[in-house]
Amino acid sequence: MTIAVYPGSFDPITNGHLDIAERAASLFGTVIIAVYDRPDKNLLFNVEERVALATDAVAGMPNVSVTAFSGLVVDFIRRMKSGVMIRGLRANSDFEREFEMALMNHKLAPDIELVCLMTSARYQFISSSVIKEVARLGGCLDGMVPQHVATALLTKYADYIRDVEKRAARQYNSPIKGA
Ligand code: ADP
Repeated sequence: MTIAVYPGSFDPITNGHLDIAERAASLFGTVIIAVYDRPDKNLLFNVEERVALATDAVAGMPNVSVTAFSGLVVDFIRRMKSGVMIRGLRANSDFEREFEMALMNHKLAPDIELVCLMTSARYQFISSSVIKEVARLGGCLDGMVPQHVATALLTKYADYIRDVEKRAARQYNSPIKGA
């Protein structure tokens, strides 16, 4: 049974990530979503939260599991007794970075094969960073992330949104000077 590892930050997991995981799960016996515990990146959710959100999101996918990892991804893939890394590619934005990383990983571990799956057209515009920006500004996330992820984002940004609303109310309700 071939095990494939799908690593990433998943801050948070989106429907674009889930589409890749689901399609990988139809190609491989087991897919492990590996959530990178990356101390030096400006992340919204800590690693436990990211793992919990992803675990809930794949509850309906029997051969997909979620775990955190730190250190080199190729070392983690070997520890999982896997030889396959999955990545997703969106048009334009991902290729060069993925290519550079793939060459480095191949140098470190030539025995590990990279499988890139092209994004589905309807998820092409979805990235965790855009999702966070939309959530921060109070926009609708329907169809872009699972409901529990949307709730987690809104909870994280609730204070920020309240603050913006208060400032807007002050600005628009204040009497016009000199009128
Ligand atoms: P990283 O910080 O390692 O890029 P991400 O969580 O941003 O982690 O992405 C993990 C993987 O999922 C990457 O290969 C990325 O290109 C892919 N990915 C992210 N969003 C999408 C999407 N909408 N469609 C397809 N692949 C995606």
